[in-house]
Amino acid sequence: MNKGSGLPGEFELIARYFAPLAKGFPGAYGLLDDAAVITPAVGHELVAKTDAIVGGVHFLPEDPPDLVARKALRVNLSDLAAKGAIARAYMLDLMLPNTIGEAWIAGFAHGLALDQDEYGVHLIGGDTDSTPGPVTIAIMAFGEVPTGRIIRRGGACPGDAIFVTGTIGDAALGLEVLRGKLPQLDAASAGFLVDRYRLPQPRITVGPQLIGLATAALDVSDGLIADLGHICEVSDVTAIVEAQRVPLSPAARAAIETAQGGGLATALTGGDDYEILFTAPQAVAGALAELSHRLGVAITAIGHMSAPSTETEKRVTVVAADGRPLRFAYEGWRHF
Ligand code: ADP
Ligand code: MG
Repeated sequence: MNKGSGLPGEFELIARYFAPLAKGFPGAYGLLDDAAVITPAVGHELVAKTDAIVGGVHFLPEDPPDLVARKALRVNLSDLAAKGAIARAYMLDLMLPNTIGEAWIAGFAHGLALDQDEYGVHLIGGDTDSTPGPVTIAIMAFGEVPTGRIIRRGGACPGDAIFVTGTIGDAALGLEVLRGKLPQLDAASAGFLVDRYRLPQPRITVGPQLIGLATAALDVSDGLIADLGHICEVSDVTAIVEAQRVPLSPAARAAIETAQGGGLATALTGGDDYEILFTAPQAVAGALAELSHRLGVAITAIGHMSAPSTETEKRVTVVAADGRPLRFAYEGWRHF
């Protein structure tokens, strides 16, 4: 990283803010070596995932740095959980413009420290550079899963039920609140939805327990319908979702009521839920209910999978309570 930004030197920054986050993980060598070593438990293999977030695209420059850090980490932990993996470690690539001061980095590192405690992961390395562009943060997370047992997208079968953890649509509606589009909504509901947007709750307790139960899974980041479409495509099945069974929080219900149309579409097609969407045979519904109860996380059946009847058949059909298919202008977030 170039000097002249008013920041301490690169190595000073690493020693001050990042090396403490590597404590307790021997293979990180205190962030004093070129690379790190991860040894999975016997009978396990590593699962890796990376996600980058860019200032002005995924977060705003004025967002609190601790929340930016936690969201950057959590989106990766969510992917690992959806694969049935237990997260162990992560690497951090930080691209910083010279407008960033030390207080921002201190806040960012503090956010990481909080989530390391919450999720039992360690920082084991990374890279720090200057950039003429916006703040860019890439995290790569590593988890472990019993060998051969990773839950993939491709295993859904006709007749499987479709399940989702938690509630859907909160984050997308929270973003509408931040954009000033839900001015009628009561303050408590608005606050709840904005929190759900700002700080996802990766379902790390649920994911690993789905091994042996789920046939396919992913985490909902692009929007429920779009992400279900991804499972359908890889599994070569179609999906029928019953709109009235999709679990909504009381705040999301309130938002949909005040939205005067379009609110349900936002909930079903908006992104950033970070819930686990998965398919499983109907026969394990009882085991899933027991799991949900034990973990204190809602697991709700929202529809079922079916065999495609024609090549052009829509992958995902959403039906209203009266059986009528619902149509949405677009199915999920796309960058391009
Ligand atoms: P190299 O010269 O081999 O590329 P660096 O000098 O960039 O290594 O980094 C020195 C050490 O600091 C390495 O262990 C690297 O993983 C770690 N490191 C650098 N930047 C970060 C960061 N943002 N977060 C965590 N560790 C970092
Ligand atoms: Mg080196």
